[in-house]
Amino acid sequence: MSGLLVVLSGPSGVGKSTICGELVTKHPGITISTSMTTRPSRPGEKEGEDYFFVTREEFEQRIKDGYFLEWARVHGNYYGTPYDKVREKMAEGWDVLLEIDVQGALQVRNVFKEAVLIFVAPPSWQELETRIKERGTEEGEVVNERLRVACEEMKACSSYDYLVVNESLEEVVDKVASIVIAERCRVKNNS
Ligand code: ADP
Ligand code: 5GP
Repeated sequence: MSGLLVVLSGPSGVGKSTICGELVTKHPGITISTSMTTRPSRPGEKEGEDYFFVTREEFEQRIKDGYFLEWARVHGNYYGTPYDKVREKMAEGWDVLLEIDVQGALQVRNVFKEAVLIFVAPPSWQELETRIKERGTEEGEVVNERLRVACEEMKACSSYDYLVVNESLEEVVDKVASIVIAERCRVKNNS
C-alpha cells in the first residue's frame, strides 16, 4: 500500500523543522523529503540531510529536466522537491512529509489531489518575530522581509486541509501525528 504525501507549510521561523524533527523520531513510518536549494548552507547544516545545496545553474538545469515535483523562489533563492525520491519512498509505504512554502504546496495539490496539506501558524506575530531572531540565522532587514512574506503566506491557509498553531511544541506534534494517523485510516487509503 502506498504511503501518504503530507505537506507542512507556514511562515519561516514558525517551527516547521522542529516539528518535523520531533515527528520522525516519535512516529515510525514517517520520513522527510530532503529538498534542493541554492541558499547557502547555515552553520551546522549537512549536505543531503538538511538540503542538497546546489548552484543556481544546476538548479535551473534540473527545472528544465523536470526533476522537481514542485519548486519555487523563496526569499531570493530556489527551493525544490526531488520527484524521484518522493515516489520511491511512497511506493515503499512511507508517509512522506514535505516541509515547503505556500507556492510549492499549491503546486503539489495540483499534481497530487490526495496530498494532505497542513498549515502551521504562529501563536502571535510577536512570538514569530522572537523565534526568527532567537534562531539567529537571519539579521535586520532579512527578519523584516521574512515577517512581511509571512503575512502574505498566512492568507493562503484557506487552501489547506488543516490548520495547527505551534504554541506548545508537544501539542502541535501530537496534532500533526493525529492528522497523519487519521488520514492513514481513511477507507480510500486502505482499499
Ligand atoms: P521553521 O523551520 O519554520 O523556519 P524552526 O523549526 O527553525 O522554524 O524554528 C524557529 C525557532 O523557533 C527555533 O529556534 C526553534 O527552536 C523555535 N521553536 C519551534 N517551536 C517552538 C515552540 N513551540 N515554542 C518555542 N520555540 C519554538
Ligand atoms: P529556510 O531557508 O529557512 O530553510 O526555508 C525557507 C522557506 O523555504 C521555508 O518556508 C521552507 O518551507 C521553504 N522550502 C524549503 N524547501 C522547499 C522546497 O523544496 N520547495 C518549496 N517550495 N519551498 C521549500
